[in-house]
Amino acid sequence: MPSKKPAGQKVDVRGNGGPSEIPDLVHRMLELLGEDPERNGLLKTPERVDKALRFMTRGYKQDLDQLLNGAMFPIDYEEMVIVRDIDFFSLCEHHMLPFFGRCHVGYLPNRKVVGLSKIPRVVDAFSRRLQVQERLTVQIAETLERKLGAHGVGVVMEARHLCMMMRGVEKQNTIAVTSEMRGVFRDQQQTRDEFLKLIRRTTESV
Ligand code: ZN
Repeated sequence: MPSKKPAGQKVDVRGNGGPSEIPDLVHRMLELLGEDPERNGLLKTPERVDKALRFMTRGYKQDLDQLLNGAMFPIDYEEMVIVRDIDFFSLCEHHMLPFFGRCHVGYLPNRKVVGLSKIPRVVDAFSRRLQVQERLTVQIAETLERKLGAHGVGVVMEARHLCMMMRGVEKQNTIAVTSEMRGVFRDQQQTRDEFLKLIRRTTESV
């Protein structure tokens, strides 16, 4: 068992128990923005924002061990497994604005694979938090590598950031790409190239 503990693995119990204070804060924020929180259209907004924020950060409460334990099974297959074009939605931690796009995951199994549907759920568990794209990419790769004991893992994420599109530089068509290569995906160019070729094919055809 590797001793290195990846960041973000702890189960967070934020928001458990007691009435939420978020609606009151949103109410006040609306006032500070020059709005009238008592007007018809905004009456329920504080509660809606509270619910939406909790939904968009629900990854804090997801237990990766619980998600993956029991979903792994032994297999003789030793070729690359790829799950590509996984849609993801996250919130940037600098502005709390959405960034979203596609994630491509590949790994080379070491006599053990995970149920394919679990990979998008790992992506989701880490996306639904306040994030930076770089750390999100590393966390997904790190978790899969550690839990699967795979020969290698590759993760590529392509995303649009609303904080870039709606404010600041206002670049509408910019896509940020991050990647994390581990094990043979990092050390063997042939493996890495195969992975990149297989994920590029769809990306270009979309
Ligand atoms: Zn941002």
